[in-house]
Amino acid sequence: MKPLLEIRDAHVVRGGKEILIVDDLCLGVGEKVAVLGPNGSGKSTLIQLLTREVLPLYREEPPVRFKGEARAVRADVRKSLGVVSSTMQDEITVHLPVVEVVEGGCFGTLGLPFHVQSTPITRERAVAAMELLGVNELADRDIMTLSSGQARRVLIARALADDPETLVFDEPCSGLDPEGMHYVRAAMRRLAQVGKGIVLVTHYPEDIIPEIDRVILLQDGEVVADGAKLEMLSSEQMSQLFGVQLLSECRSVDGDEYFSHVSSY
Ligand code: ADP
Ligand code: MG
Repeated sequence: MKPLLEIRDAHVVRGGKEILIVDDLCLGVGEKVAVLGPNGSGKSTLIQLLTREVLPLYREEPPVRFKGEARAVRADVRKSLGVVSSTMQDEITVHLPVVEVVEGGCFGTLGLPFHVQSTPITRERAVAAMELLGVNELADRDIMTLSSGQARRVLIARALADDPETLVFDEPCSGLDPEGMHYVRAAMRRLAQVGKGIVLVTHYPEDIIPEIDRVILLQDGEVVADGAKLEMLSSEQMSQLFGVQLLSECRSVDGDEYFSHVSSY
């Protein structure tokens, strides 16, 4: 597997405090992986090391390489990664038709501002992405009028519009009702099944779709475990990670494994 991200001895400092320390972590192109950890454990910071929105402390030997490159340019990173976060929706503050929001994904913008020119090709890509996500019927709707679940799927279509090889999801299901979660998880599955790499950040084991086999556990800004899903999602690991007694469950439905955990209180 070709490397997507290689991190060696990276230290991220914010407000005078080390918020993320990664000794050695590699992700491959096309890999399907989940990063699980409590609030504040450094998950989003790890994603920002991948997207190069955050840089670690300087070292002569570069601590982060993107596809083998120590100085990858943002445009190449943007082309390779489609990013969806639960907070992106809050950034949309103007009335725009859904199709324009999705098409904006071809330009790295949220809609189609004056400086970008829609073309038949970008429009076609937007339509194809909406079809894959099952949101094509929303094409002409005002983005501001959608439910959170619909808007989240539209943002996934947007991330997909420029045909990235890897999709990065930062807590894609937070704030959604069970129907919204169902459709977002089903969308992640479909993308994994058509060969996209998946990097999923979450604190819900339920988000970990069957196609994901590797799970990285983050706690207090450090990778505390990294390995096969079944082992990482055990009751012992989950209880230790979240600091409360959790009972992990794995159910097999039609040959696919679904994870969840319960706690008594
Ligand atoms: P997660 O996504 O797992 O919830 P984050 O990566 O967002 O965690 O943040 C990790 C830690 O770094 C948190 O404790 C957060 O408060 C802290 N942090 C993030 N950004 C800053 C910043 N700009 N200044 C100070 N602390 C920060
Ligand atoms: Mg976060």
